[in-house]
Amino acid sequence: MLNISCTYCRAPINLSDGDLAQAVHGAEGKRPKSTPVTCPNCRRTNKVPFDRVRQAYRLAGSPPPEEATPAAEGEAAV
Ligand SMILES: [Zn+2]
Repeated sequence: MLNISCTYCRAPINLSDGDLAQAVHGAEGKRPKSTPVTCPNCRRTNKVPFDRVRQAYRLAGSPPPEEATPAAEGEAAV
């Protein structure tokens, strides 16, 4: 999890572990300078340094991205 503040309206933005996973895996091994994050309050796009996202992702235990998780058949996860 990573908490940042919106550059434009100062609203807190909460990136879940799943969001971090998607950002890191979405980079596909590349190392972009920043990750675009949309503010839930003003809908503007903040650029979060990728290193920060990746570090938070590691601290979270590097969970697999939610979308990549194969759907369990007949069994709801957790
Ligand atoms: Zn904002």
